[in-house]
Amino acid sequence: MTTETAAAAARATVYGYPRQGRSRELKKAIEGYWKGRVTADALRATAAELRRTNWQDLAGAGITEVPTGDFSYYDHVLDTSVMVGAIPERHRAAVDADALDGYFAMARGTSDVAPLEMTKWFDTNYHYLVPELGPDTVFTADSAKQVAELEEALAAGLAARPVLVGPVTYLLLAKPAPGVAAGFDPLTLLDRLLPVYAEVLADLRAAGAEWVQLDEPALVQDRTPAELNAAARAYRDLGGLTDRPKLLVASYFDRLGDALPVLAKAPVEGLALDFTEAAAANLDALAAVGGLPGKRLVAGVVNGRNIWINDLAQSLATLGTLLGLADRVDVAASSSLLHVPLDASLERDIDPQILRWLAFARQKTAEIVTLAKGLAQGTDAITAELAANKADLASRAGSPITHDPAVRARAAAVTDADARRSQPYAERTAAQRAHLGLPLLPTTTIGSFPQTTELRTARADLRAGRIGTEGYEERIRNEIREVISFQEKAGLDVLVHGEPERNDMVQYFAEQLSGYLATQHGWVQSYGTRYVRPPVLAGDISRPEPMTVRWTTYAQSLSDRPVKGMLTGPVTMLAWSFVRDDQPLGDTARQVALALRDEVDDLEANGTSVIQVDEPALRETLPLRAADRPGYLAWATEAFRLTTSGVRPDTQIHTHMCYAEFGDIVQAIDDLDADVISLEAARSHMQVAHELAEHGYPREAGPGVYDIHSPRVPDAEEAAALLRTGLEAIPAERLWVNPDCGLKTRGWPETRASLENLVAAARTVRGER
Ligand code: GLN
Ligand code: ZN
Repeated sequence: MTTETAAAAARATVYGYPRQGRSRELKKAIEGYWKGRVTADALRATAAELRRTNWQDLAGAGITEVPTGDFSYYDHVLDTSVMVGAIPERHRAAVDADALDGYFAMARGTSDVAPLEMTKWFDTNYHYLVPELGPDTVFTADSAKQVAELEEALAAGLAARPVLVGPVTYLLLAKPAPGVAAGFDPLTLLDRLLPVYAEVLADLRAAGAEWVQLDEPALVQDRTPAELNAAARAYRDLGGLTDRPKLLVASYFDRLGDALPVLAKAPVEGLALDFTEAAAANLDALAAVGGLPGKRLVAGVVNGRNIWINDLAQSLATLGTLLGLADRVDVAASSSLLHVPLDASLERDIDPQILRWLAFARQKTAEIVTLAKGLAQGTDAITAELAANKADLASRAGSPITHDPAVRARAAAVTDADARRSQPYAERTAAQRAHLGLPLLPTTTIGSFPQTTELRTARADLRAGRIGTEGYEERIRNEIREVISFQEKAGLDVLVHGEPERNDMVQYFAEQLSGYLATQHGWVQSYGTRYVRPPVLAGDISRPEPMTVRWTTYAQSLSDRPVKGMLTGPVTMLAWSFVRDDQPLGDTARQVALALRDEVDDLEANGTSVIQVDEPALRETLPLRAADRPGYLAWATEAFRLTTSGVRPDTQIHTHMCYAEFGDIVQAIDDLDADVISLEAARSHMQVAHELAEHGYPREAGPGVYDIHSPRVPDAEEAAALLRTGLEAIPAERLWVNPDCGLKTRGWPETRASLENLVAAARTVRGER
């Protein structure tokens, strides 16, 4: 095919669309169903209506092939487990009794059975339910959902392409079922799984699918030769089937690397690749294998996981290059649009000029259509769109919001010394000991205390104008008084104010920093019916005034014991926000770090001797490919040090992270140069303490002895036993006693009892020294 005919054939498509609806109707219907207020039929009707609306919006905008099967009541990986019959034994009876209730039991558990484990979908903030597989797993095909949704779209007169999680990614995302040896490799089940995919493909073809998309994002991660061989085998087998639709194998979130030649050679009809900045290497790699002669290439040129407008001219240039490399080039977002909010035009409170820089799912859809049109008909066909886009990009690039000279000058002047404490850890720790006078095995908490209904009501009252700022702040002060008095009575050594004033650990700071933007309707699915509204790092970041100082100093005024100041760290601020795409992440991190540094310094100046900077997202933001990790860790650890290095040696810097495994980042944690770290450890029986010790971690650490994820109260003996286990790895002079994480999701009764037991455990173990 010539580039002219390839261009003329260009179509616009997407891989998936936000599921929730304009007013989060899906969330309301599902939660209503759980509470018994919505019938199964009503829920199904709402879901069908939402799918229809999405397809009509897409088709109406000019998308020529709409995705089907991307819709989900909870999670598309769970849907895949159902599709291949991988129902855990413990859920079998519930699924047999009622498919919908059984599905939700797998997702959420019941009073009798635990749900599937949930974990992050690659490096996004979406969470999927981890398939549980074992040597005895028997796969059986259940194509009902996929077929039904395809038929709905076809009946609406649309060209539709079912989207499935591919078999290799499905197995690579799975884990050994409970009771199966940890060494079991789910990928060994590939030969058993492929016939089930073959059956689903045949069913979809029979239902009228011309194309089916198989998503293989796991192939953008580092893969072993054996895993690449498995991918080659999977697509040789599926490609070799006779009764099947055309196959489009999709990758996203990064470059394909070694998997690219594997898929390029496979007997499938199309590949979808990510061509955004993050995956720029795909372009060269594709040229290096001689392109995809005879195949369809779907080019993900519009970023599917960020919220900025596309540079249309630059995308057209990329698409132009790609024309010579495949038989047909289609235009798409780099990934499913599930990861962005639905519609920027719903935002009322954003400055209209800034709003023009933003593209949510609807705006991205329009960009994709424009690009496909420009590719097929030439740039003359999209002159107006190109001109408007150029103007919007220029307005963003030239805006004082994105270029604050004071912020830029300060960031440019940062020296290595600014990101170093004035004394090494060993000297500081002595100064801190003298200054703080803490006992052996000091006790503390991670920051938040129960976020009661009264607190949430107070915030809602403030928003609705039912109470004024004065009334609201009075309620916050009351709460702080209660939290402090409880901690004193319970005998904790380092107190906290309890974070009652915070709606969320990122949003609270985002609302107070200049350069950050909040949305009203920017909901994105985190998991199931939980949606979050990540703030937007839109411009240069600065801190107009102190953010936490008055609450912390108020708390300190109530007690003679040290009250710990509490901040969210720069890496976590980035990880749980939409980030700028017009400068390196490290530059944004540095700006946030400098703003937080001002807060740290102000806390110290106002009498705070212990300051905790939480970085729970440090590990989850690790780049997908190992080669990219050192660069990330360099700016991430520098940003933390920049935040915390302005203080005196006798001011103690804490950090907190909550995940059980992090053997791979102990060096980075050490590089933070914090004085004390608290970690999640209760469920893994202090495993982290041993991981730290193995790496020779020299600092103080508090592996959690109270699992805050459930209302269960650990008794004092249980906490003491964990402490003794911790002492096998960390000497008493460096061991802290604390829960796994903050207590905001807990109720007061279990919080009280658990913390009293924790203090009792510390006293018991101190007595044994
Ligand atoms: N300081 C925060 C809290 O206690 C930390 C939360 C977190 O690690 N996710 O709530
Ligand atoms: Zn935590």
